[in-house]
Amino acid sequence: GHEFIGIVEYAPSKELIGKKVVGEINVGCGKCEYCLKGLERHCPHRTVLGILKRNGVFAEYTTLPEKNLYIIPPDIKDLEAVFIEPLASSFEIAEMVHLEPDEEILIFGDGKLGLLISQVMKYYTKEVILVGKHPEKLSLANKWGIKTFHLDQIHNIGKFKYVIEATGTQNGFLSAVSHVRPRGYLILKSTTAQGTLLNLSPIVVDEIHLIGTRCGPFKPAIEALKKKYIDIKDMISEIYPLKEYEKAFLKNDDKSSVKILLRI
Ligand SMILES: [Zn+2]
Repeated sequence: GHEFIGIVEYAPSKELIGKKVVGEINVGCGKCEYCLKGLERHCPHRTVLGILKRNGVFAEYTTLPEKNLYIIPPDIKDLEAVFIEPLASSFEIAEMVHLEPDEEILIFGDGKLGLLISQVMKYYTKEVILVGKHPEKLSLANKWGIKTFHLDQIHNIGKFKYVIEATGTQNGFLSAVSHVRPRGYLILKSTTAQGTLLNLSPIVVDEIHLIGTRCGPFKPAIEALKKKYIDIKDMISEIYPLKEYEKAFLKNDDKSSVKILLRI
């Protein structure tokens, strides 16, 4: 796990102690060319909370450098704050691609990330269209004013300048590629089809810009939650105590679940 909130028990800066915080998950070496530019998330020597050489947060205590921490403002509820990290990664899209406000954005994947990205993209463009397979998740997006299509109904929706892939599957990638306009942008938001062979010729033929994006800036994510721009209240499917972690993982496998939380 790497999406968390916690209370600081110990810190060199005394003013942090007792504060409720979230944390940037990448810890860089602090010395390389990436770290010196503030891009610790690309440090070749980095550790990543719960992902790379650093234990995750299904634990009573965890450690992070002070500079990774952000104090959660009092007007953000705990259950909203656990979404800051994935929300930050949604804001990264706008850091990587200049999004034109009068273009539509097509998003594949109605999981937690696809739903968050849909909400974030609404603030950058006139229309967001979400494609997914789960009626209950698509109707959530409808509630937020997002147009949705079931994956089976997209034969005639046309091509788009910006297409975001957030399914993490090979089929998702293939559908996404086939809906990008020539000279458009295909933005990969999941480690899509890891280890599979993909036909990249449409990327060449249609001169598509292929953009990979991963972790993102926490500040706009915190700001968006503070201003109540993002609605997460229907995205938490269940909360379990730590000792029921097995149940929590089973529930997480259930395709209708969006986000499962452990309370520790
Ligand atoms: Zn470094």
